[in-house]
Amino acid sequence: MNTPGQTATGPGLYIHVPVCASQCAYCAFFSMAPARELVAAWLAGIRRDLSELPDGFAPATVYIGGGTPTALEEEELARLFELLAGHVELGGAGEWSCEVNPGSLTSAKAELLRAAGVNRLSIGAQSFHPDTLRLLGRGHHADDTRASVELARQAGFRHIALDLIYGVPGVTAAMFAADLEAALALEPEHISCYCLEIEPGTPFSRRAAAGELAIDEAEQRRQFELSRRVLTAAGLGHYEISNFTLPGRECRHNGLYWSGGEYLGIGPAAHSHWRGKRWGHTEELPEWSRAFEETLEPAAKARETLVMGLRRIAGWNRREFRAATGFEINDLRGPEIARLAADGLLVETQESLRLADDALFISDTVFAELV
Ligand code: SF4
Repeated sequence: MNTPGQTATGPGLYIHVPVCASQCAYCAFFSMAPARELVAAWLAGIRRDLSELPDGFAPATVYIGGGTPTALEEEELARLFELLAGHVELGGAGEWSCEVNPGSLTSAKAELLRAAGVNRLSIGAQSFHPDTLRLLGRGHHADDTRASVELARQAGFRHIALDLIYGVPGVTAAMFAADLEAALALEPEHISCYCLEIEPGTPFSRRAAAGELAIDEAEQRRQFELSRRVLTAAGLGHYEISNFTLPGRECRHNGLYWSGGEYLGIGPAAHSHWRGKRWGHTEELPEWSRAFEETLEPAAKARETLVMGLRRIAGWNRREFRAATGFEINDLRGPEIARLAADGLLVETQESLRLADDALFISDTVFAELV
């Protein structure tokens, strides 16, 4: 299990499932309606990507994300697992996550996922309030989330993560507190709370441009602090800016992203970081290709790893950072770190570096000084 502040053990495998039953109003992820011919073409592309993986590729973590993996039909999911088993050594995958949209999980799909080896479900609850779900353009109701958790437990899942969104225009702190309580009532092992951002090209960005909705940053900060108070009081440790967990249930796959670990991504829009190179696929169906490929300059890569690792509440252990990157933290950004520490935004000790509590909500501002 990944220990915050340390380097996660990889590699990871990410599989992008580019279909969603409908487009949420705030979402900029690449996805399309799950037409069967399109899914068949996607599976053919997945087969091609899998055949290009290194021989004997044996991921320590697998993450099926999207999109909505559970929008696939049972036979499509079964075909995906058949392809994976045929190309990847899955025996060492201690954590295998799959994203789930409430309303799209059936008991047959839950059992299929479990039988294939998936052992962690990440369920996109987002809110339990009907008005908030409607505003977000979510195609589900709060009871669908409760039903998905129930189905997952019945299928034997012992690691359930729930996602919530805070800082939605018109949603008060009291309403978000009710969302937190509703999520806790389902006794998940892990909760993620994501701050709403208005992404370009989304229905929300058009509504914002038309003056129909606006982000209230002070309210967002109140709700972020509320999530910290409520979830930690309930026994979920705050281990990354957006993530809370029961002891030992941190997401190991995301731990790779936060610690500069290696991972390979397959499917459209998927990204990879492998052997000093990084590349990403185009957002295209039925065919996709490499949108970019770059060889990382070591110091720039180390600065990026520094920033990603500071997303973890424990930050970086200096020794682990040196082992992961070959650099001393202060050789990369010494003067900037000293200034940010003097301003109370970073906490420096001889052993570690982390964001100060007051800097967690404004982490992007701090990170801009360090990359
Ligand atoms: S279900 Fe998820 S990936 Fe699909 S549109 Fe909604 S937020 Fe985006």
